[in-house]
Amino acid sequence: MIQPPETSDSEDGTEDAGILLEWLSKTIAWNCADCGASLCGHDRLLSRALIGIHSTRCIACMARRTQCEPEELDSRLNSYICRRACYAAAWASIDSSGCTHSSSPKASPPIDLPTTASTAEWDTATEKWDAADLGCGDLVLPLRGKLRGMLPGTRLHLRATDPAAPVDLAAWCRLTGHLLVASTPPEYLIQRRSGD
Ligand SMILES: [Zn+2]
Ligand SMILES: [Zn+2]
Repeated sequence: MIQPPETSDSEDGTEDAGILLEWLSKTIAWNCADCGASLCGHDRLLSRALIGIHSTRCIACMARRTQCEPEELDSRLNSYICRRACYAAAWASIDSSGCTHSSSPKASPPIDLPTTASTAEWDTATEKWDAADLGCGDLVLPLRGKLRGMLPGTRLHLRATDPAAPVDLAAWCRLTGHLLVASTPPEYLIQRRSGD
């Protein structure tokens, strides 16, 4: 895997964390859209990672909607945030004096990256998308939309040159239930999940 150069502009994710912090300050009064529970900044960041920028929900309600255990979802979201510099930086800057979260997201075991696929497997893709150098956040939002428009079980051949994409995509696919079939940066093969 090619590592980003040490001097990369967005190496520490500062710029992207700024976007997240701005969103956090805008949504400070947002509660869970389902049950009305009040949400701390960490809760809102976890919510943003799963359901995006337009509404916020508590872990319990997101778990119910995605039909998984709250603890499992919490752990998956924490590991997702750990692996993305922008989210991790935003998390660390949230005041945790009024809530039960610690100043860093809960680390979890590393994700195994699928690395190889035969030529025949790449040929199974029914859609192709070149995301160029879209990174942190900018990549997964349109990716979510692309996959939503595809039939369950069909595959997308994605090209993404962002240096963090291999880890981001593995974490995001595990988080959302899509299958990362192959990862040979900058090429990725993603199988759409069977649910909605
Ligand atoms: Zn709720
Ligand atoms: Zn918190």
